[in-house]
Amino acid sequence: MLLRHTTSEIKDRTALTVNPAKTCQPVGAMYAALGFHGCLPHSHGSQGCCSYHRTALTRHYKEPVMAATSSFTEGSAVFGGQANLVQAVETIFAIYEPDIIAVHTTCLSETIGDDVNQILQKARDEDKVPKGKYVMHASTPSYVGSHVTGYANMVKGFASYFPVSTGKKLNQINIISGWIEPSDMREIKRIVSSMGIKFVMFPDTSDVLDNPMTGKFVMYPKGGTTIPEMLSTGDSKFTIGLGHWATTDAAVALDNKCKVRFEVGDLPIGLRATDRFIKLLSKFGTASVPESVNDDRGRLIDVISDMHQYLYGKRVALFGDPDQLIPMTEFLLDLDMKPVYIVSGTPGNDFSSRMEKLLANLPEAKYKNGANADMFLLHQWIKQEPVDLIIGNTYGKYIARDEKIPFLRFGFPILDRIGHSYFPSVGYTGALRLVEKMLSLIMDKQDMECPEEKVELVM
Ligand code: SF4
Repeated sequence: MLLRHTTSEIKDRTALTVNPAKTCQPVGAMYAALGFHGCLPHSHGSQGCCSYHRTALTRHYKEPVMAATSSFTEGSAVFGGQANLVQAVETIFAIYEPDIIAVHTTCLSETIGDDVNQILQKARDEDKVPKGKYVMHASTPSYVGSHVTGYANMVKGFASYFPVSTGKKLNQINIISGWIEPSDMREIKRIVSSMGIKFVMFPDTSDVLDNPMTGKFVMYPKGGTTIPEMLSTGDSKFTIGLGHWATTDAAVALDNKCKVRFEVGDLPIGLRATDRFIKLLSKFGTASVPESVNDDRGRLIDVISDMHQYLYGKRVALFGDPDQLIPMTEFLLDLDMKPVYIVSGTPGNDFSSRMEKLLANLPEAKYKNGANADMFLLHQWIKQEPVDLIIGNTYGKYIARDEKIPFLRFGFPILDRIGHSYFPSVGYTGALRLVEKMLSLIMDKQDMECPEEKVELVM
């Protein structure tokens, strides 16, 4: 059982991470690669790593996740994985017939120093890559960063490899999606389409990891950004990145390669972040905001003002990925709630500066990110002074259970509930769903703790 600690004891623990608030880079790389049509992710390392990454994604999305592995043995660890990868490329194209193989590295192949770029060039030179097919890679050493870094590295890999500038600009914009659910990607496409803007979004896991049951196994589902779409991104007039951690590197790479100007904003989670997203779309997509979008916003405001008294002043602890935590914190403040503890295992200096600005009027708030910002720290903070609500991935349930605090599952991974793949959390309708879920949790707890009301209900 976790005991109450003094503030100085909590500050002093820097050499040890207990229950990290993150997972490993290749999980993110694999998820990003699945957002491209006909793409088979390939894990350059041992079978165990690949099995873990596939399992993590399958348990969260409740869908089969296809991926290949270089199947390192002791020999590969000593002599290098070149022979395995060249053979893998030939075998995968011959048997599984993907359009793209997206290779990511693991701790082992990074540690022994495999030059994946050179190995893949060797595979191309030896005609192991059929005409019209592609193999590319991203470096994803898991002893730095997190699953978000892996996602960002793979998206950057695609943005560096595919876009082509023909010199003739197209009347379309690029949207680089940060790490969000398939349902969120579908919702973003719905919003952009409703504004009449032509666009290419990548990656796009809708219709890949939220597929209907048809009774037939499909190796490459119908969704995902296609190769022609990716090639055309070099001719787009502008790029909007959604999520600083996940998309900035890709937007920069695309700009460097094809001179497509860009702006990176927050994921459109909550009221103000969605407002900013709509403004960006309106400005760079040269489109006006349709009535349907204004109506969605109006309904959200209506619910917030109707139910404000139940949310006002509620203390919240949240943990997860920075691209989601920053707009979520902003949204909680908009709801007059108090996001007092915020933890992310993903490193990055911007986290502190963004939080400092957001939480300037909430002196009791504590936040931390990086390797030592773990679930243990969050639990210690909650032990010192409890909260009314915890928001985060499945692993928060142990703290919630110990401390008897309502718990909203949000982020990655969610292993023990469904819904996240099907119902969006982004945009105004997504924000409405978040408010509804928070209200249900808070009011359920109040109902349970109020015997008079219980009697009334029974009568
Ligand atoms: S060895 Fe590295 S890449 Fe493989 S599962 Fe562990 S952290 Fe991830």
